[in-house]
Amino acid sequence: MEPILLYDTTLRDGTQGENITFTADEKVKIALQLDDMGIHYIEGGWPGSNPKDLQFFDLAKRVKFKTARLAAFGATRKPGIPPEKDGNLKALLASETPTVTIFGKSWDLHVKEVMDNSLAENLAMIADSVKFLKWNGREVIYDAEHFFDGYKKNSGYALQTLMTAIENGADFIVLCDTNGGTLPFEVDTIVKAVQTALADKNALNPASPKIKLGIHTHNDSGLAVANSITAVQAGSVMVQGTINGYGERCGNADLNSIMPILNLKMNRPCVSPENLSKLKTLSRYVSEMANQVPLNNRPFVGKSAFAHKGGIHVSAIMKTPKAYEHIDPAIVGNRRRVLVSDLSGKSNVEYKARELGVELGNNGFDSSKIVSEIKQLEQQGYQFDVADGSFKILMEKFTDQFEPLFDLEAFRVTIEKDKDQPCTAQATVKISVDGQQEITAAEGYGPVSALDNALRKALDRFFPDLDTMRLVDFKVRVIDGSRGTAAKVRVFIESRDQDEIWSTIGVSEDIIEASWQALADSFQHKLASEKQIRSQQFPEQEKLPIFNT
Ligand SMILES: [Zn+2]
Repeated sequence: MEPILLYDTTLRDGTQGENITFTADEKVKIALQLDDMGIHYIEGGWPGSNPKDLQFFDLAKRVKFKTARLAAFGATRKPGIPPEKDGNLKALLASETPTVTIFGKSWDLHVKEVMDNSLAENLAMIADSVKFLKWNGREVIYDAEHFFDGYKKNSGYALQTLMTAIENGADFIVLCDTNGGTLPFEVDTIVKAVQTALADKNALNPASPKIKLGIHTHNDSGLAVANSITAVQAGSVMVQGTINGYGERCGNADLNSIMPILNLKMNRPCVSPENLSKLKTLSRYVSEMANQVPLNNRPFVGKSAFAHKGGIHVSAIMKTPKAYEHIDPAIVGNRRRVLVSDLSGKSNVEYKARELGVELGNNGFDSSKIVSEIKQLEQQGYQFDVADGSFKILMEKFTDQFEPLFDLEAFRVTIEKDKDQPCTAQATVKISVDGQQEITAAEGYGPVSALDNALRKALDRFFPDLDTMRLVDFKVRVIDGSRGTAAKVRVFIESRDQDEIWSTIGVSEDIIEASWQALADSFQHKLASEKQIRSQQFPEQEKLPIFNT
């Protein structure tokens, strides 16, 4: 069977998505990652449409890709002018990419009513543009825009547009579901019908090369991946899509799903297993660049894609992960997570304890005690499935393994507002470490930042490594809105250092108190891991046996 070629359009169609933009430099960085992943084609942009894309192609001329072919995207020539006078086609050539992708109209409605053009001139535009690019030595991918809609309304004309591109030398014919409204069984029927029709026409000219079809789908019906997979099953050999499914409206076909489906479920490998294991990293890299929060429930690569919450599920996956997982998460670079919550059973807690390195009692008593405690705390508003740092501390407390690395004696926070001036916050913190007291004061942008600064300063005397730690996220949620000001708030804090990200939680009727709990847990977590690292680097000297002489 023919290998499937992946064609990424994150840098062009992906940037049509709301709030998604990349600088030319960022585009180069993403392109290098896509190349590293083994993606066959990278569409860099539309050089005729904006200066940023022109700049990208300029930068890309100096970049050496390992295997990927770079493609520039553009339209067929404008009506009524020869291709060599068309600015858009000239910009495509000036990009100096080995591959050029041009789109043309296949739906008569667009030709006549939107473009106010004649059907014959549209065919001439396709013919001239493909021929011109081929004559200039480019590989040409022809994207048939609105093909499925056009085929449904006027199949004869839609096929004629494809045939025109083929006769003039197009290397690939890509059928586009531009509006995203086509259903998988329609894709199946139409892709097969197109192959038959084109093969019949091509039979008249036995010297013609084999026609290679591609698919380009949008997700307006939630079916972009399903439609792409169906098209491959029906004979397409190229799949166009974007990383994380970014794209206009509801997005494009998500290559993060298409790659593992082809590799693992259809026996049509498109990337090496080694590259497939980088899938989650690639997804995160692109969402970071796009400044988009990664979606937890994204198939294969999302944080929750292999997260288990129900107790029965967890006890089953501890016996055999296959029981509740469709693939091994490691194959796509993801990992199994077990969540602890009021839905949890003993199995969740035992699994989690093992993962976090907390020893539980052998008789199972500890884990059932922890389960009932979690249920009570969740009743009060805690939520541990997103706060591993606090959960570890909780488990240690329940099994008498908790070793507080500092104790709070007192804190005070004051906030001042002077007329139109911004608020200022000061905090004083009194702590003790091994019986030694320390009092410090600090300012901050708000009460939590002031507390953070004061605690940091106080601990600095005892633990000099704290400067690698910083707070990266702070979320507050009211959890019982019906009780007005007496409502409780839940505070989540996410912290990180060079090795780790951890999250902690606090719940109280007082927002400062809740913040303090989350903050204190976060520092405790950091200090405990530092201590563990140090003990691994400098283990205590083995105690020598004492001989009574
Ligand atoms: Zn598109």
